Amino acid sequence: METNIIKGKECAEKVLQNLSDKISALPTEETPILAVIMVGDNEASQIYVRNKQKAAAKIGMGCEVMEFSSSIGENALLEVIDELNSNHHINGIIVQLPLPSHIDTLKVLSRIRSSKDVDGFGPYNSGLLSYNSEQAVISATPKGIMHLLLSTGIELKGKNAVVIGRSNIVGKPIAMLLTNHNCTVTLAHSKTTNLPDIIKTSDIVVAACGRAKMIKGDWLKEGAVVIDVGINRIDGKLCGDVDYDSAIGKASYITPVPGGVGPMTIAMLLSNTFEAFIRQQSEPECSCGKSGCHCHH
Ligand code: NAD
Repeated sequence: METNIIKGKECAEKVLQNLSDKISALPTEETPILAVIMVGDNEASQIYVRNKQKAAAKIGMGCEVMEFSSSIGENALLEVIDELNSNHHINGIIVQLPLPSHIDTLKVLSRIRSSKDVDGFGPYNSGLLSYNSEQAVISATPKGIMHLLLSTGIELKGKNAVVIGRSNIVGKPIAMLLTNHNCTVTLAHSKTTNLPDIIKTSDIVVAACGRAKMIKGDWLKEGAVVIDVGINRIDGKLCGDVDYDSAIGKASYITPVPGGVGPMTIAMLLSNTFEAFIRQQSEPECSCGKSGCHCHH
């Protein structure tokens, strides 16, 4: 079977061009601004943040990166978030994960005002997603994956989908989104015992387990649509969670690594920031003064 390559990079460039046009057409002097909080000196995080900064600059969006030592205390970090929450010039706030183990990630993410939570990782937006609410800010990677899936034109309704990986930032939200799009979803994880059998009956396979080339072509159902979220390195070379070469000829569609889901993640983050900016322009500011309040947001 012929395998179509889903061109995430091209798709992301279109989204970014569209955002760039919208930003340059804004009537006000203001530009949307994203604040990125980075704790510690995780090398991968530094690369991701640099890429976010570059993409933002290219489309005329502000991106303020705040770097802190890994020894920063939880309260100090919460105070930084409080300040950003009440700074009217900041439209989106993200905290680069993972955080050092002495910091409670959920507590930190919960502190971000939901209207500025452009990663959508906070409990309020995650909750809205589970209600299939249009108000939910959907996290960038899952949102990008849905964009790519829908770009293929395949009907999602009634399809069997498997998501491999149950993290809060990728696996769980994508499983929820696929459910909201009427797929029948299996959420597999490290304790799943019969993964190849589950994959064999799946029309859609989303691999997000962080295990290089783990999913083999002969596990796939003929014609499956494969979304490879994994970013791994073998001898310095990037590869996904799917054994790409053996999936070619078996899958009907596949995302490459690099050039698939990765570029879409950045485009969707900036898109969420732009949408937050627009919402904040048209909605009254909350006067209750509480950080993380949901009164008007
Ligand atoms: P994570 O480490 O938080 O979660 C991995 C998940 O995979 C866990 O739920 C675990 O149960 C599951 N898992 C591990 N081994 C497994 C196995 N043998 N069989 C089945 N399930 C298994 O990872 P994450 O943050 O969700 O990221 C997953 C991958 O996606 C990583 O490679 C990461 O680099 C990549 N990623 C890519 C993007 C992007 O923009 N392309 C964004 C985020 C994460």
